Amino acid sequence: MSDSFFQPVSGMQMPRFAGIATFMRLPHVPLDHPRAGEVQIGLVGLPWDGGVTNRPGPRHGPRQLRDQSTMIRAGHPVTGLRPFEAARCADLGDVGPNPVDNPDTLARFESFFADLSARAIRPLAAGGDHLCTLGALRGLAKGGALGLVHFDSHTDLYPPYFGGTALTHGNPFRAAVEEGLLDPRRMVQIGIRGSQYDRSDLDFARANGIRVVPIEEFFARGIADVMAEAREIVGDRPAYLSYDIDFVDPSVAPGTGTPEWGGPNAFEAMQVVRECDGLNIVAADLVEVSPPLDPSGGTAWLGASLMFEILCVMVAAL
Ligand code: MN
Ligand code: MN
Repeated sequence: MSDSFFQPVSGMQMPRFAGIATFMRLPHVPLDHPRAGEVQIGLVGLPWDGGVTNRPGPRHGPRQLRDQSTMIRAGHPVTGLRPFEAARCADLGDVGPNPVDNPDTLARFESFFADLSARAIRPLAAGGDHLCTLGALRGLAKGGALGLVHFDSHTDLYPPYFGGTALTHGNPFRAAVEEGLLDPRRMVQIGIRGSQYDRSDLDFARANGIRVVPIEEFFARGIADVMAEAREIVGDRPAYLSYDIDFVDPSVAPGTGTPEWGGPNAFEAMQVVRECDGLNIVAADLVEVSPPLDPSGGTAWLGASLMFEILCVMVAAL
């Protein structure tokens, strides 16, 4: 692909600290742009954290992820893949939330992702908290339930909190299964740890056939073995990849609302994504980076690097 329009700005032409920060220095192509119809993979920000139940902040994630992502170069270090030459990628901008109305925001996200689906643009979203994923899935799964590869220290399968019915970032995947957006038998959740409210999330997983890989099993078996099983479970039909930055150990990625000790290091955090190669990932997100809790920017830098890893898997799946 030789179309220079869809190439990122090279750090050899404009220094990386200069210019307007878009995801990976790609062109900004909102959906009303005349070339929007050519985009194959759209990077998009979801600046919203209305589902956070404890420490807020990921509404600021997309902006800091964009800034840190300007350090990404054009080629993958291991495979040699040059994703921006292999596919037309662009920064679609942000989906504007209604920060004081969660159902309205979820409806806005659903509508945006349904539009992407109709245009055959595959999204790689940057959160935002994990409830953003539910809005995306509602828009994307109209053609049938998707599989899911989910990296997180939490299952996000709890019932609604506080005695009501309001959704939070603690239950997007329970809602997605109940709404038929995800096929529970093609779901795998990896890295689960931390103290628990109760066992209702794990009971839901067991009752629905969702595979949960606790962190102890992850480290005992090793990445290659666990990810081989994950690829087996998800199969070759369309699947969503959702990556909560709190999958990573807080010594590496402290800038997130609900950190849990005893997680993967930065290399392991990237390697699990590389092991998704071969899966039919049609959409993905990286969520829960919270800039107010990330003064060094290091968590966002890891998040941006993980987005690049995910992008490479998505390009290979085109
Ligand atoms: Mn989560
Ligand atoms: Mn989590």
